[in-house]
Amino acid sequence: MQKPNNLHSLDVKAFAKSQMHLEGDTPVAEFERLTADCGGQVSGHVSWSAQGAMDPDQTGKEAIWLHLEAKATVPLTCQRCLHPVPVALMIEQDFRFVADEATAVAEDDESEEDLLVLEDSFDLMALIEDELLMSLPLVPMHPTCLSEQVPTSPEEEAILSEAKPNPFAVLASLKTGKD
Ligand SMILES: [Zn+2]
Repeated sequence: MQKPNNLHSLDVKAFAKSQMHLEGDTPVAEFERLTADCGGQVSGHVSWSAQGAMDPDQTGKEAIWLHLEAKATVPLTCQRCLHPVPVALMIEQDFRFVADEATAVAEDDESEEDLLVLEDSFDLMALIEDELLMSLPLVPMHPTCLSEQVPTSPEEEAILSEAKPNPFAVLASLKTGKD
């Protein structure tokens, strides 16, 4: 099998039979649904790899398998301070292709791998995007938000002192109140 030039329309059976390995770095911005969930300037790449194989399923019958790995760092919106927070995503998943939806439903519970219905044209990029979307954290958050950090620069100090009342000013106003 020739290296496919359209990763949105793959002959997955031929891909598995030739045990093909594909990998690439695709700009995050090309994944439109993923980009729509981001909360800041999207940059960088999704680094991914896909390995096809013909291996037995649980019953010993030869089946079409795909091993997928992908990683990316995307800017999400911190749910505490609402500023962008970079979140590292990583997926590693086995897929087995089955003849139809009924087989997928019937065998899903007893399978560690995810089951996909075999079609003539398989969209590898859409599967990578689906998996990345599913790996997004429900509540993205900074480990420590900027507003809680000890200031390390004059600029940060200025931001933080505006947010909090100056303790010396509070003390001074208490003293004048007593007089
Ligand atoms: Zn935050």
